[in-house]
This record gives sequence, structure tokens and C-alpha cells, in this order.
Amino acid sequence: MSGGSCPDCGGSGEDRTLPGYVLRCGRCSGRGTDQPPGNVTTTPTEPPPVWEDRCWADPRLAGISCRICLDQRSVANVRGGVLATLPCPACTATGD
Ligand SMILES: [Zn+2]
Ligand SMILES: [Zn+2]
Repeated sequence: MSGGSCPDCGGSGEDRTLPGYVLRCGRCSGRGTDQPPGNVTTTPTEPPPVWEDRCWADPRLAGISCRICLDQRSVANVRGGVLATLPCPACTATGD
């Protein structure tokens, strides 16, 4: 019995735990099965670091030399709940 119905919703894809509401099943995301789409491996894929995002392949961004600070030479960082502007670590490391 592999690839059976979602045990939470019984295959309906609906979450009816709240009276009067029909929500999408949180376990199967409304698919009704307990299998990920396409039967891919269940290894969670972490999003790539922001500086490796595919958007950087955009030729319009190719002229930016620093992907961390976007050539601003500084980055915003939250420390202790305070938004602070720090020198870009990438630009600082490579020197000017
Ligand atoms: Zn379900
Ligand atoms: Zn930089």
C-alpha cells in the first residue's frame, strides 16, 4: 500500500477540523495523497543563498560588481532589534 491517501484528510485534500470551514489539508497541500508531487525524493531543498539566486543571470544585473551590497559599499543589518548599516563584508575583504 504505497502512495496511499493522505492519512490526515483521507484523500479528500480538505481540512475540515474547523467547523464550518473547508481548508486545504496542511499535510498533503490539497493533493489528497501522502506523496510529494512527481514522487521526487523527500529531501528538503533549501533555497540558494541570495547571492546565488538565478536572478543574477539577468544581464541587466551583470554590471554590478558586488552582489552583496549592489555596489552600495554597505549593507543593512539588524542587530539587537536595531537596523544598522555596516560596511559590505565582500567589498571590505577585497579592498578598494
Ligand atoms: Zn491531506
Ligand atoms: Zn559589496
